Amino acid sequence: MRWIAHVDMDSFYVSVERLKNPSLHSKPVAVGGTGPRSVISSASYEARKFGVRSAMPTAQAMRACPQLIVVPPDFKSYSELSHKVFSALKIICPIVEQVSVDEAYLDFTGCERLYKSREESARKVKQTVEGASGLKCTVGVATNKLITKVASDLAKPDGLLVVPVGDEEKFMRPLSIRKIPGLGPKTSALFEHRGIMTCGDLVDFKITEVNKYFGNQGLSFQESAKGLDHSEVSTEGERKSLSVEETFDVDVGDFETLSECTRKMSEELGTGLREEGLSARTIAIKIRYGDFTTLVRSVTLSDSTSNSKVIAQKAMELLKKNKSPSLKLRLFGICARNLLTPDQKPLEQFDLFESPEKRIKEEKIEKIKDDLKRKFGDKILR
Ligand SMILES: [Mg+2]
Repeated sequence: MRWIAHVDMDSFYVSVERLKNPSLHSKPVAVGGTGPRSVISSASYEARKFGVRSAMPTAQAMRACPQLIVVPPDFKSYSELSHKVFSALKIICPIVEQVSVDEAYLDFTGCERLYKSREESARKVKQTVEGASGLKCTVGVATNKLITKVASDLAKPDGLLVVPVGDEEKFMRPLSIRKIPGLGPKTSALFEHRGIMTCGDLVDFKITEVNKYFGNQGLSFQESAKGLDHSEVSTEGERKSLSVEETFDVDVGDFETLSECTRKMSEELGTGLREEGLSARTIAIKIRYGDFTTLVRSVTLSDSTSNSKVIAQKAMELLKKNKSPSLKLRLFGICARNLLTPDQKPLEQFDLFESPEKRIKEEKIEKIKDDLKRKFGDKILR
């Protein structure tokens, strides 16, 4: 079951301004322009009590809260703090998708050995953010991005909310449809006009009726109201995978040949990963039979690896589990996915291996092999 967290810094710009100038604490403060057409970018919770909101014209905010202190934005400081926060989070979580200067999704799936519970991972996120920046944040944890986002929004400020596995729809039902991310006020008004006030109302609305009145977009919001979301936490722009495959001259069916082939490919893949300082959390195999039927099967590891032996072992397990005994392979491939750079690899990970000495020894051997290959070419180790 997926294990995702959404972290959102509390009134980020204002909080950074308070770090720079502590006299702003516990006062109604907003960051924004002061010109005639300026708007508010971020408001403190004290200011929000007066109705001050982001995107509100500054003049209107001043009328709502005459004692409001408006500070001009200092984007350089915000981006510096943001960088500190997300670099620190990459140390405690393997996959971090930063979605704005103060917001990110973290994928802890497979981290059961690092964190005893979902609550614990959320507390770790909060501690890490505060340790790196001195700032508070709110964390929502659930099985998908949508729920985590709704949860952190509900728990603000300085909050922590874990939606237990299986409670997704139960959690969403009582909430106003306006809590659904991406559902704007105009669409909300259309729903509300038909008596759909809560997510539960939307879930109970007949699919055919939803389709009739609101079209495909309506159906997709109905999915959200049920708490469904399949989107992945992705680290856009970063290297996603490394793969090796081979098309055989003659179709191959016996495990002995395939095992030798797996060993060679894993060696190549491991070397490639180590050269780039990467390690993989997911190992996948690609099988193509003589009739061109193709299947891809993968396994996600609890510890990321660049070790050729581990890759070979996982690939072989997948092959044994998935290969049809009667069919021969035309092509076989191994792919390392979910690649982590050293700064993304959780530091605590090292303590998790049953035998660190063995692990270090194996890593040394792999390194020596890499060096030999670099000096004398691939044939040296055959
Ligand atoms: Mg925020």
